[in-house]
Amino acid sequence: MRSPGPQGPAGEAPPPALTDHDAVRATFSWRQAREQLAGLPGGRLNIAHEALDRHLGTPTAERIAMRFLPRQGEPVDISYRALAERANRFANLLAALGVKPGDRVYGIAHRTPDLYAAALGTLKHGGVFTPLFSAFGPEPIRSRVEIGEPVVLVTTERLYRRKIADWIGETPSAQRVLLIGEVAEAPPGTLDAGQAMSEQSPDYATRPMAPEDPALLHFTSGTTGRPKGAIHVHEAVVAHHVTGRYALDLQPRDIYWCTADPGWVTGTSYGIIAPLTNGVTMVVDEEEFDAERWYRILEQERVTVWYTAPTAIRMLMKLGPALARRHDLSALRFLASVGEPLNPEAVHWGRATLGRPFHDNWWQTETGGIMIANVAGMPIKPGSMGRPVPGIEAAVARRTDDGIELVKDPAETGELALKTPWPSMFRGYLHEEARYRKCFVGDWYLTGDLARRDEDGYFWFIGRADDVIKSSGHLIGPFEVESVLMEHPAVAEAGVIGVPDEVAGETVKAFVSLKPGHAPDEALRREILGLARKRLGPAVAPRQVEFRERLPRTRSGKIMRRLLRARELGLPEGDTSTLEGGRE
Ligand code: ATP
Ligand code: MG
Repeated sequence: MRSPGPQGPAGEAPPPALTDHDAVRATFSWRQAREQLAGLPGGRLNIAHEALDRHLGTPTAERIAMRFLPRQGEPVDISYRALAERANRFANLLAALGVKPGDRVYGIAHRTPDLYAAALGTLKHGGVFTPLFSAFGPEPIRSRVEIGEPVVLVTTERLYRRKIADWIGETPSAQRVLLIGEVAEAPPGTLDAGQAMSEQSPDYATRPMAPEDPALLHFTSGTTGRPKGAIHVHEAVVAHHVTGRYALDLQPRDIYWCTADPGWVTGTSYGIIAPLTNGVTMVVDEEEFDAERWYRILEQERVTVWYTAPTAIRMLMKLGPALARRHDLSALRFLASVGEPLNPEAVHWGRATLGRPFHDNWWQTETGGIMIANVAGMPIKPGSMGRPVPGIEAAVARRTDDGIELVKDPAETGELALKTPWPSMFRGYLHEEARYRKCFVGDWYLTGDLARRDEDGYFWFIGRADDVIKSSGHLIGPFEVESVLMEHPAVAEAGVIGVPDEVAGETVKAFVSLKPGHAPDEALRREILGLARKRLGPAVAPRQVEFRERLPRTRSGKIMRRLLRARELGLPEGDTSTLEGGRE
């Protein structure tokens, strides 16, 4: 919180050393954290003000906010000042179009600078920004438009023609379509945003918002079912800023790369807001995952802090260490991962191959920001999500007839619960009040994930409540089984489900994809089964292993175990709108 340091706004003290997590936690308060943000008169604030405006009177204004790496061609550097002006032009455009505070603006585009300007400009104007995956097909876009009723839809010409033009006339919302990026010819009913913005003023007085005014609407990943629209407020920026500092170790001179797609919550909280409030330079790559390109970016941009996801790490691991060793990755200081459990193998691999371990951290769309983390300076326990960040109290809870009971026994598994409130906590599921209420018992928010807390206060992810397998009286978390399977040198990825069994209730079945150069034959299958039995014991080890070319995953990179299970058992597939490579 006391960042930015030497290069940051004049007069601010350098960031405190984070070697003593307990000391930081003991003295931390959200009230103090909020006081260290700039804020706006009358107790008001605005996320975009903290991300951009507050830097303008300081040397940070001329620093590079974003280094954009286009698919082809030279990098484009955008200073804090230039990004603020771009966002101002967008805010003025919204004002000119009659957009009111509280109106929703959807962004559906790949990583391109004006998507960031649109997000920040919407916040400046007091609108509510909602990002959607650009890889969504027409149906998932349409259904989310119908749920959220945006007044403005920001997208590209190509996406508009391919995925939106056919149905947009049939819905009363999204009457304004703004096209960002190259526009060859704006179709009827759309506006070339770049051109329209160039006619607007680069000055805009950011609207002072009440802390509880809505700022963002984020749809969940849909891993367990129909996606929910989580509402977040302007005060969330306090948590974005603090967690960026503590959980990602962001410091003003950092070159920071968050690989998350802008279409989900990580792409906003840690792909836009936290890096900018902390005054770092963000690397923004237009391309999707490509191992060679990624190593090249880490090397050439001298990335110091890298925030990525287990699915990407596993892909890099699959391709082997030789590729990594061809690159000079010595600038890397802090590696972090989110989105799925991070297998201990991946932590070790980071240390051995990239020279730094990965720091796992846990959060959800609903929590708005990182809640549990292996923060900088804290010893990492590979396979653990870490400990609650400053300001957050977490517990393991058991549901009882009249509420919940907090579990003390470090061996006992229960539902991961967070003490309310905290600034980035969701304030509702859009149009689903009852579903929202059901998440809270007394002072606690129940996350739907199962976990264990050890003697040292580290939390261990067991699985989503829906994915946990009950076999002969044992509760088996898929993560533990998958992590052991991944220890086998041939295994690239594993997804584990429960299948009905007359005797045991359920038994464990594993789906496994292999690294290049390994044949999916009977001998290998036996070997993998053998390893699992030896490490886990016969009660927990999978009874069956089936090889798959790839596992079904969400567009945010999460293995969809419910889909593996539905397909295995011939059950309805449920909502597959977020399935990667799925329905278009
Ligand atoms: P839906 O709620 O629609 O089913 P989702 O839960 O996957 O989808 P997100 O909010 O994007 O949607 O993901 C949050 C979930 O991702 C967490 O509840 C948890 O299950 C999982 N997750 C995130 N980070 C970690 C982590 N570090 N370790 C284990 N699981 C994680
Ligand atoms: Mg969820």
